[in-house]
Amino acid sequence: MVFFLFILGAVVGSFLNVVGLRWGTGRGLGGRSSCFSCRKILGWQELVPIISFLMLKARCRGCTAKISWQYPIIEIWTGLIFATIPYIFIPVFCIYVVITIYDLKYKIIPDELVYTAIILSLLVPLFFVQYSLLDWLAGPILFTFFGLIWLLSRGRAMGFGDAKLGLSVGLLLGASQGFSAIILAFWIGALVSLLYIFLNKTGLPAQAGFLKNAKKLTMKSEVPFAPFIIVGAWMSLVFHLNIFYVAFF
Ligand SMILES: [Zn+2]
Repeated sequence: MVFFLFILGAVVGSFLNVVGLRWGTGRGLGGRSSCFSCRKILGWQELVPIISFLMLKARCRGCTAKISWQYPIIEIWTGLIFATIPYIFIPVFCIYVVITIYDLKYKIIPDELVYTAIILSLLVPLFFVQYSLLDWLAGPILFTFFGLIWLLSRGRAMGFGDAKLGLSVGLLLGASQGFSAIILAFWIGALVSLLYIFLNKTGLPAQAGFLKNAKKLTMKSEVPFAPFIIVGAWMSLVFHLNIFYVAFF
């Protein structure tokens, strides 16, 4: 069952890749996928999640242009999400995956996506989860927290989109797991930033094709934060993290 859910998730992830990359470009979701370099239409053998990427050795069959690691990473991650979280959370997390793709690419969170996530985050606990008053307040508290960072840094440290995403995560996960998610997000963010700065000195990320057009990242660079919030939310949900337990015992 877990394996079946993983496969289903990987297939959905492959679709979410397309949604994330085509969002806001005016290209609909219809139409066949093609190579970004040579425009060759991809056949079904080139569209099998994860497997195709490995078989093609990360290169287009037509023009040998490199295929981004984003594709298999998102497919595997969506597979893991499907296999590890309660079903009722899956629709919100599908939106979160698209937000991750979009934020990594454009460093902004589309309003339509985050508002839909907020509405779904409100509906899930309303119908399926028992919430205390503090759980209901978790969303507004996280919104205020990120909103203040946004205000005080004049948008440099955090975007306003992160505040809306915080509202969604707080509503969806409640106080204990919601706050845990955000603390985890800062930890992961710090680790990834340090790792990235370290690797940048070796020139590895450029060789691997990551953030090809981005300036070299330094501590001051604008790092998209939504992916960390979302990975934090996922891990907090999977491992039932409880920040209050850590804080008081
Ligand atoms: Zn090509």
